[in-house]
Amino acid sequence: MSELTKLKIELLCKGIRIDSKEPYYREVVPETYAEGGKSRAGVAGSGKSFLLGCEEPCNVGVLQPFLKESPYAFKIIDNQGWILKNGEKTIKATLREPKWHSTDLLNEIQLHGINSIATAISNSCIYKKQGVGCKFCIIDVGREVVFHDPYKIARSIETIEKNPDLRLCFDIEDKYNPNLDEEELLRRKRYIEPKDININAGALKNAVEIYGNTISQIKRVSKLPIFIEIGPMNKDKIETLYSAGKDALSFNLEVYDKNARKNVIPGKAKINTPDVYFDAMKNASDIIGENQVSSWILIGLEPPEKTIEGIKKIAEAGAIPLPKPFRPLYGADYEKRKPPTIKDAILIYTEWLDTIKEYGLNPFKAKAGCVRCNACFPIRELLKYGI
Ligand code: SF4
Repeated sequence: MSELTKLKIELLCKGIRIDSKEPYYREVVPETYAEGGKSRAGVAGSGKSFLLGCEEPCNVGVLQPFLKESPYAFKIIDNQGWILKNGEKTIKATLREPKWHSTDLLNEIQLHGINSIATAISNSCIYKKQGVGCKFCIIDVGREVVFHDPYKIARSIETIEKNPDLRLCFDIEDKYNPNLDEEELLRRKRYIEPKDININAGALKNAVEIYGNTISQIKRVSKLPIFIEIGPMNKDKIETLYSAGKDALSFNLEVYDKNARKNVIPGKAKINTPDVYFDAMKNASDIIGENQVSSWILIGLEPPEKTIEGIKKIAEAGAIPLPKPFRPLYGADYEKRKPPTIKDAILIYTEWLDTIKEYGLNPFKAKAGCVRCNACFPIRELLKYGI
């Protein structure tokens, strides 16, 4: 079964093509990236969470440069969704879009993976504003700058949780199956059952106050565990957010090598050294608990041995490293950079597995957030099937 791990790594690195003549093309491939924070910070934007073999979600790029070089395609054949490699069936796959995605609620709340509810409080980022944003990131795509009201975010979550009809979805192959009448289609309906809440944003001034307020508002209406993505901070601020009700968090290192940091994330690198991140991770795992702190680190923007060094440092600080293949996106400074090679990604994920075991980390125990969601990394596959 380690084939599933390798397949996911390849899909994360290479993305997927859809024939533009297929009736479901526009449902999978948007014309442009979504504005207003819906395309997320970092490199996960443009991805669609395919469910591979009805098991794990995989956030695969569907709108990005270099897709024509990908051997992978998605196609519905005989009313079944398939991932094809060089035209050959590789694994069954489907996509599920909840009903609320076709309402205004999408502006505030998006589905990540199979059952994570996510909100981007704002697409404003102090580094982007200063012209020193991370060169892979498209959080500011479009003209619209949004700051969502914490009260409204909480109300939207409450509405989604309380109304199964908004969480209704169909497997994409059923939706486009001409042989199903309405009754049969309805019989095949499914509901998204939210398991956690992911709060993210660009780098904000007064981030602790804004996140704290948002967490408190959500806690009034929802019992779901809450995960936040935020910049590193001191112990007191971590305590403040913890008492507001946060269950898990990530401080995203992005890249580890000193020179790469200066080039790739000039704003972030100037303000915080990697040591500041590691200290914050140590404090956070002391306060929140083991396996609840994590950190994204990108594959492909520094020499692989530096990423591996970064992964070990993150683990040493008590946090779960989250290596994610860099994905070039249209409009990003790094639009023309190539995604990482499969060879480098496999090397890094092999080291990741050893490191996780060496430091006694257990990603299965994460209560909320990117580790639990698993769409952007092959974490559960690595742990279950190896590589
Ligand atoms: S800090 Fe970097 S990754 Fe985060 S929103 Fe700003 S530019 Fe994007």
